[in-house]
Amino acid sequence: MIGQRAPLVTSSWTDRAAALDAADPLRAHRDRFLTGPDDDVVAYLDGNSLGRPLVASAGRIEDFVRTQWAGRLIRGWDEGWLDLPLEVGDRIGRICLGAAAGQTVVGDSTTVLLYKLARAAVELRPGRDEVVVDTDNFPTDRYVLEGIAAERGLTLRWVESDRHSGVEPADLAPALSERTALVVLSHVAYRSGHLAPAAALTRLVHDVGALVLWDLSHSVASVPLELDAWDVDLAVGCTYKYLNGGPGAPAFGYVAHRHLEEFRQPVQGWLGRADPFEMAAGYQPAAGIRRVLSGTPPVLGMLALQDMLDLLEEVGMPAVRAKSVELSAFAAAVAEDWLGPAGVTLATPAEPDRRGAHLTLEHPGFRALTPRLWARGVIPDFRSPQGLRLGLSPLSTSFAEVLAGLAAVRDLLADRT
Ligand SMILES: *Cc1c(COP(=O)(O)O)cnc(C)c1O
Repeated sequence: MIGQRAPLVTSSWTDRAAALDAADPLRAHRDRFLTGPDDDVVAYLDGNSLGRPLVASAGRIEDFVRTQWAGRLIRGWDEGWLDLPLEVGDRIGRICLGAAAGQTVVGDSTTVLLYKLARAAVELRPGRDEVVVDTDNFPTDRYVLEGIAAERGLTLRWVESDRHSGVEPADLAPALSERTALVVLSHVAYRSGHLAPAAALTRLVHDVGALVLWDLSHSVASVPLELDAWDVDLAVGCTYKYLNGGPGAPAFGYVAHRHLEEFRQPVQGWLGRADPFEMAAGYQPAAGIRRVLSGTPPVLGMLALQDMLDLLEEVGMPAVRAKSVELSAFAAAVAEDWLGPAGVTLATPAEPDRRGAHLTLEHPGFRALTPRLWARGVIPDFRSPQGLRLGLSPLSTSFAEVLAGLAAVRDLLADRT
């Protein structure tokens, strides 16, 4: 279950963590994240669920309220606010997605944007009546597709996925046919951390003439993405996970250029219309990616994530991924050494190039253990039935922090009886 690193003796883990932190080229950036007033957090291992705030975001949000909102008032809409969904979308596309400008937009929640894109996608494949999704995909993805299938008279074709791994080409191929309209998959599985071979799976989907929609919630800003090069059709993702946009920050959506002209999404709001301020009769979609929008953009919700984009642009995604691979290999090796004897297993693919930035450990005692960890300032999360998920956000997590978290897991497991 260890990654690439040579086995090390137990007593050296503290030294090893210190050496890895000292050698970490990104270490200085950890100081750019804000800690709370009582700083009671020993190890934050849930940056894959809600990223920490950047110091810069506190300033940006206060400044926005004082100068832009209070000062510009309604004039702000014409002075840039209305273009933010496209501007911030283009930056996410360029810095994180491998997407040329004009294909990415910010707005709605991931759930709502997934609905809009998936519903539009099935309309792009008339005459095809199946949508493929895997049984361990994120719940909201499964529920949204169940709704679309009911609404449009389509059949959901389920790929049985292993909760310790994820969808591979051999799992997907038998589910595809000339009846397939759309395939919806998560790039990094929320539970296991499995990193799907996106380019190969996209090719398989295209071989039967269907479209693919990737959910990038757990891969954006942790794993480098090449949506244009992979020929992806559609994608959605969260901005409050590794993009540190804050609780409830809006989602992003990607629609490849080649589909935009035909693309019709179902929530036909005024701000997705051509010439919205004409207030004219009848809906006509705006040109380009703007047609994905529906209503007033969440301007406050797009502030903090811009600071994370600044940081990611400075550092570059390859360096983020390199740190991420080191962090998860270190965590897996310590977990094997310290927790393996207590019966803990790794529920994440062992090879670093087959996983994203989080690791899941399994043990029947983890459900009861999680609140006790939180009480000690060690914050991973629990995923049913017995998974302890360790989110190792590359820019804000240190090796020493990972070690402190795993030491608490070890001590509490030993202390259960
Ligand atoms: C976190 C997550 C979501 C969340 O959707 P919301 O609408 O923001 O609640 C959706 N899909 C995946 C794969 C996720 O990991």
